[in-house]
Amino acid sequence: MADHRADAPDAYLDLLDQYERVTALGGVQGTLSWDQQVMMPEGGNPARSKQLSVASGLGHDLLTDDVVADSLAALDDADLTDEQAAVVREIERQYVRAERVPRDLVEEISQTSSEALQAWEEARENDDFETFAPYLETLVELKREYAAHIDDERDPYAVLFDEYEPYLDLETAERVLDRLREELVPLIDAVQASDTDLAAPFADGTYDPQAQEAFSRDVLDALGYDWDRGRLDTSTHPFTVGNQFDSRITTRFSEDEPLDSMMSTVHEFGHARYNLGLPQAEYGTPLGEARDLTVHESQSRLWENHVGRSAAFWERFAGDLREQFPTVDATPRDLYEAANRVYPDNRIRVEADELTYHMHIVLRFEIERALISGDLDVADVPETWNDKMDEYLGVRPDTDSEGCLQDIHWSHGNFGYFPTYSLGSVLAAQLYAHAEADIDGLDAAISEGDFDPIADWLGEHVHRHGCRYTTPELIEEATGEPYTADHFLDYVSAKFGDLYDL
Ligand code: ZN
Repeated sequence: MADHRADAPDAYLDLLDQYERVTALGGVQGTLSWDQQVMMPEGGNPARSKQLSVASGLGHDLLTDDVVADSLAALDDADLTDEQAAVVREIERQYVRAERVPRDLVEEISQTSSEALQAWEEARENDDFETFAPYLETLVELKREYAAHIDDERDPYAVLFDEYEPYLDLETAERVLDRLREELVPLIDAVQASDTDLAAPFADGTYDPQAQEAFSRDVLDALGYDWDRGRLDTSTHPFTVGNQFDSRITTRFSEDEPLDSMMSTVHEFGHARYNLGLPQAEYGTPLGEARDLTVHESQSRLWENHVGRSAAFWERFAGDLREQFPTVDATPRDLYEAANRVYPDNRIRVEADELTYHMHIVLRFEIERALISGDLDVADVPETWNDKMDEYLGVRPDTDSEGCLQDIHWSHGNFGYFPTYSLGSVLAAQLYAHAEADIDGLDAAISEGDFDPIADWLGEHVHRHGCRYTTPELIEEATGEPYTADHFLDYVSAKFGDLYDL
């Protein structure tokens, strides 16, 4: 592949130069935000909010600078290679959105979300929605205003959704979510009516967080996490931050449910593996940047569900697990069953099985759409949340902490983000079906602890491309077919049909 910088027009080099600054500053914000959630003492927030807000404003200035506008204009009918055209497409898309939004609003959103983050953490800890409500109200208003600046002719929620998934539109998301609801509800009902009872080896007892952490580190070692370019820490909500040189993950430990933190760690590993697989020589250009959230979530959900919740995975790790938890008397099959058990009283999204998970997404999607359209008041969120939990999952949360305060996203002002979890899970199944067809003995390799074949396949078909392709193009390139939910639905019917004797 020829270097896209060679023989490039001057305007192209100027554009890249400026975009490298935008990327670097974005990385500074990412690190500050990681620190805020992982290391920062509680009292640090007033200063940190200001720092992040100034950085957001500067990032906005860099992206909307005249040099970007002039370079894009000069490149308008230039003769570009495919790679150069991809770089220009990605920068232009971000520029067009940014230049419509006033800098003050960008700073205000950043400042408010930092304050909201702290309020959310407090509210969640004390089960006190009132602490968080005023911040949520302000963020809804600010995000509505933000969407109107970008395009006041379109549904503001669709404009916000573009920020997380610019290339699969909201109609695609709705179509997929509708189909999941239609086809998963009868499957969930059948599972719950089944007489088959799956193993629950962790049901009694509590599990030392230190042993959990040791096991998580063993798993990350075996999966091939590069500790020279990564770290594992704890935070209120698990997340991943970083780039191809430094991609860090966090997890959290529950004394009652050690499997949750294990699966969550494997999920975040999938995000980090993607970041770390991006081409190093392209750091600072769109070719060295991860595609958006559907693709990012496809990587984390693939590792979490198709690898981490497979029978082969537990063949490999049952021994390590028994070493950390000698009181747990479980066969690999028991652990496989436990990792896939569909709990009737499942309240927490990040702990949900692969079926009910999507009902959690549907309910958030409906609530945030109604918030942004103005059909739902912030004050009514807890009640609406609980009603929908009842309707879709047959359970009413006892507290708002395990209800509408469980997820971090709204405190970041991230409205439009949630649908990408379902879109990503669906894509994970599509990618995995093709990887299985391409790789001889993938399952056997996993049971022997050889994760290179799947990691290499993803590197080859997804990671190394950065943002060279749009999302639909990348999916076609990797799988030879358009985006489809067929593989996901086949996969869950087969897996849960077998587990529950349906
Ligand atoms: Zn994720």
